[in-house]
Amino acid sequence: MTSVLYRSDAARGRAWAEYFAHHAPDVDFHVWPDHGDLADVAYLVAWQAPPELLAALPNLKVLFSSGAGVDHVDFAAIPPHIPVVRMVEPGIINGMVEYVTMAVLALHRDLFDYQARQARGAWEPIEVRAASARCVGVMGMGVLGQAVLARLAPFGFRLRGWNRSERASEGVEVFAGPEGLAPFLAGADILVCLLPLTDATRGILGAEVFAALPRGAAIINVGRGGHLDQAALLAALESGQLSRAVLDVTDPEPLPADHPFWRHPRILLTPHVASMTQPETAAPVMLENLRRHQRGEPLLGLIDRDRGY
Ligand code: NAP
Repeated sequence: MTSVLYRSDAARGRAWAEYFAHHAPDVDFHVWPDHGDLADVAYLVAWQAPPELLAALPNLKVLFSSGAGVDHVDFAAIPPHIPVVRMVEPGIINGMVEYVTMAVLALHRDLFDYQARQARGAWEPIEVRAASARCVGVMGMGVLGQAVLARLAPFGFRLRGWNRSERASEGVEVFAGPEGLAPFLAGADILVCLLPLTDATRGILGAEVFAALPRGAAIINVGRGGHLDQAALLAALESGQLSRAVLDVTDPEPLPADHPFWRHPRILLTPHVASMTQPETAAPVMLENLRRHQRGEPLLGLIDRDRGY
């Protein structure tokens, strides 16, 4: 019998186990710490896969990350013949689309300014700017970046995207590669980071990028905390080069209690909740991938170890 070991949040694991019991009775699904016979485990679903666990799974065939990003995965500890697959599932996509749309609209309609004005008892309208007069730029046109751009389109924003490789996207002005970065930034009033964290993107939200944005631009970081140069953000907010930042991710998570971001009047912090793997939508995707593997078909969300995403 095929055996799956789920080693992540146990409460969510129970929902996965129920799904497999109903839809794949031929699969022996275990939720950690109930791991059954480790020698039978062919598929591991985990956020972290410690080397000692991997060493105890002699018949492991595929490692499934329980999240969308894999920057936390130590690839050196995973035998090269084991494919690593990330989570690409509708629950994660919908959550991210909701979060970024919320943040873009809140920035666009000056919600954070009104919150501050209300606290002062000030009834002070800000001139409303048409969505068509505002440009949203998305860094990373992958599964999430493209879904976000598609959902923002009906509001009428001007849209642009920046990607490693060229990518055609209707209604989106696309820029590619390092040489496309400065022209991309030059027109982005609201900058959204949806890049994976790699050696090439670490610290990318820094002084150079902020200086290339239009004065008063806002940023939304939903990628990883490591994308952001924190000192550069504070300096850009202080100088007025940036007006606001919405940060769902930080480095470290959580930030220390005395970190300036906590009480900064122009930073909104959320505790890495933009989107999360949803058992109801993730379990079917993982099962589909398991079946693909059994049939010898390409896996969805396969990580390219050389690229790191
Ligand atoms: P994805 O499908 O792998 O897309 C990544 C995109 O980034 C690709 O289009 C890729 O371009 C582009 N890219 C990579 N390196 C680049 C570089 N150096 N320069 C320019 N573009 C580059 O990933 P995804 O599913 O959209 O997820 C993106 C990230 O979102 C994840 O890695 C994770 O860190 C983050 N995330 C955050 C949360 C949260 O709750 N905050 C939740 C889920 C995911 P190519 O196609 O040309 O390679």
